[in-house]
Amino acid sequence: MKKIVAIANQKGGVGKTTTSVNLAACLAAESCRVLLIDLDPQGNATSGVGVDREECDTSIYDALVGLRSVETLIRSTQTENLDLIPSTTDLAGAQIELVSADDREFRLRQALEKVPDDYDFVILDCPPSLGLLTINALAAANTVLVPIQTEYYALEGLGHLLRTIELIHEHLNPALTIEGILLTMYDSRTNLSEQVATEVSTHFGELVFQTVIPRNVRLGEAPSFGMPISEYDRSSRGAISYRDFAREFLKRNGHGGVSASA
Ligand code: ADP
Ligand code: MG
Repeated sequence: MKKIVAIANQKGGVGKTTTSVNLAACLAAESCRVLLIDLDPQGNATSGVGVDREECDTSIYDALVGLRSVETLIRSTQTENLDLIPSTTDLAGAQIELVSADDREFRLRQALEKVPDDYDFVILDCPPSLGLLTINALAAANTVLVPIQTEYYALEGLGHLLRTIELIHEHLNPALTIEGILLTMYDSRTNLSEQVATEVSTHFGELVFQTVIPRNVRLGEAPSFGMPISEYDRSSRGAISYRDFAREFLKRNGHGGVSASA
């Protein structure tokens, strides 16, 4: 049975897309079948896996507004086991077009029913807001994964996000749970990163993944080459940390038996 994971945080630049692309690619490398869905009108996850947005004439928009069935929108990527439903700029309009629709919060959930069952994971890369696209993602997901940038204002806005998740759980999606919190852009040269990591762990305990993603130049470069970090520079610290994270994620999901080394 496929599991749907929304990667959400209304703050921009915290590592949602980097985590979506690289978790998806690392799960695919562990032989899982993965579908990545780009829900951000900016389309960074689409270009991040090497798909040219200019060449996409369909996107997840078409499923949200009921123009096309979701399985017709899936395309393969250069990464084995990893498929994509891209975003196009149309998606920016969907938030407005759907405002007056009755079932506006459930469009994605309904659409995803048609995703073939041979996927193990569906990863939803959310935009940096708590608008209708993110609400659709949270209403459709089994779990939500929250990346937090390891910096001074890390916890700012988190209360609002957690209250939104709670409201969605109460009113739209009683099955929704929190997958966990992932610390990103950790800078080991500063005391600040360490302090923030300690503070987040004190607050959220077991919810915080043990793997921490370091700030790593190669992670910042990979998107401009349209490659997940595992393909751009597989021996970089960024690649190793996302591989470790994917393995910790799989372990939490009961896929035991993965080895700790390459
Ligand atoms: P979001 O999707 O939350 O807006 P992104 O994943 O796009 O955030 O990350 C914001 C920027 O930071 C991007 O340019 C990305 O390449 C870069 N970035 C993300 N994670 C890291 C990291 N661990 N180290 C270095 N740069 C990173
Ligand atoms: Mg993003």
